[in-house]
Amino acid sequence: MDLKDLYRDVIVDHNRHPRNFGALQPADAQADGHNPLCGDRLTVYVNLEGDKIAQAKFDGAGCAISVASASLLTEAVKGKSRSEVQDLFEQIHALLTQQDAQADVDKLGKLAALSGVREFPARVKCASLCWHTLNAALDRADASKSASTPVSTPVSTE
Ligand code: ZN
Repeated sequence: MDLKDLYRDVIVDHNRHPRNFGALQPADAQADGHNPLCGDRLTVYVNLEGDKIAQAKFDGAGCAISVASASLLTEAVKGKSRSEVQDLFEQIHALLTQQDAQADVDKLGKLAALSGVREFPARVKCASLCWHTLNAALDRADASKSASTPVSTPVSTE
């Protein structure tokens, strides 16, 4: 299967059947993301176990790419440490923005499909919104370790 087929199949599948969709309650941290260029609005929720992401969920509404990307993200980051998530984010960011970045399908699995988004530069922010929102939630978790109520942090990719 080439990357174009992977792109189409994965985006369609994860948009129609988003994984880990819905609020996580209670969540250790959450953040809201908004992509004003497209109108995508997502909330990403995480539960942490020490340094690892024990559970990640999302809800909201947006275009097919933003929803599929968030669905892929919640599957990919579960069980990963913060530094592994950061590493993954950097790889995805390179895939989305660098024409010559190679998708390592063995390492990235279905996330490699996101490399197809760079054919549509206007949609890159749709695909990266959930990642920026996750980062904001994790930053919030650091900032409010002692707080009992999760606070929602607005993010904009504008
Ligand atoms: Zn979008």
